[in-house]
Amino acid sequence: MATLSLQHIDKIYDNNVQAVFDFNLDVKDGELIVLVGPSGCGKSTTLRMVAGLEDISAGRLFLDGKDITTTPAKDRDMAMVFQNYALYGHMTVYENMAFSLTMRKENPNVIHKKVLAAAEILGLTSQLNKKPAQLSGGQRQRVAMGRSIVRSPKVFLFDEPLSNLDAKLRGATRREILLLHKRLGATMLYVTHDQTEALTLADRIVCMSMGYVQQVGTPLELYDSPANMFVAGFIGLPPMNFYDVTVGGGTLTGEGFKVALTPEEQDTLKAYNGKTIVLGVRPEDIVVGTDVAVTVTTNENLGMNTLVHGHIGNSKAASAKITAKLKGWSDYKNGDAVTFSFKRKHFFDKETTNAIRKGE
Ligand code: ADP
Repeated sequence: MATLSLQHIDKIYDNNVQAVFDFNLDVKDGELIVLVGPSGCGKSTTLRMVAGLEDISAGRLFLDGKDITTTPAKDRDMAMVFQNYALYGHMTVYENMAFSLTMRKENPNVIHKKVLAAAEILGLTSQLNKKPAQLSGGQRQRVAMGRSIVRSPKVFLFDEPLSNLDAKLRGATRREILLLHKRLGATMLYVTHDQTEALTLADRIVCMSMGYVQQVGTPLELYDSPANMFVAGFIGLPPMNFYDVTVGGGTLTGEGFKVALTPEEQDTLKAYNGKTIVLGVRPEDIVVGTDVAVTVTTNENLGMNTLVHGHIGNSKAASAKITAKLKGWSDYKNGDAVTFSFKRKHFFDKETTNAIRKGE
């Protein structure tokens, strides 16, 4: 059982840089929380404050209801898995995994049981007598996790654990972390700058920008109903397209295009009649249709899909750029004309950048 509660947590470094502002989060027992955002947004700082590796400047941190705001790292019962997983090269996998328990002078029988159990969970049973140099990168990463698992910590903390791995191994290790989470049922906090990792791993995502939490929710909530333009642009790949448009007469008018609004969309936007808002359209919500005339610049076939990049009308302005992710194979050439329709639209207030939702 391990719940975490972060309440109004700030971090101000000695040089007066404020890295984290008023961070609030309640982590449920067994939940896998992914902190995601661009480099420098404060996610590692937050993780390090939870681990006890950085002081908390203001606010409180609770583990299972107990205030651990000032508890030293070694007494927090948490295990951190770093991207640099230095293993002891002269020790076997077994010895590496047993190391922390051996140092604590645990009973050898207990150590043996825990190492075997961890090896079983990680699929390392047949590798226990090997040295790290004889293992693949992914297996070494699993040994590093094994060192944490044998300690049975209340909370696992991951700081960009996959960023040193190549793309193929990253996918495989990501799936292993998911399985590991299922098998252990442990509470986990996971930091990454990679939105794909966040979407695929998280029970809930915390999306951060410039020290502030932008949105907390399930992957689907962040993808489907992003709270603001930052989240809308960060979650989803390729990123959402954004256009300034004027609301009026049941349509949205942008630079070089006009699209009709459904009655429901009109209702959502009723307070914005005559005003300029931001229209967001995900590349995968664009289809070949009848509304928006586009001049193609490049065509990238991915097999199942094609990314078609271009600009709306004849405009070469950056604001007129468009990326569509079409189903199947396409062979558009530079300069081709194509007309798109938008299957799904997202609306944002131009001043606040917040999503415009029905009834708000
Ligand atoms: P992220 O993990 O999202 O890349 P960090 O938490 O590492 O971001 O950093 C957040 C901000 O805090 C950045 O502006 C960074 O430069 C600053 N920062 C990080 N560590 C320190 C430090 N030890 N002293 C001063 N500023 C720091």
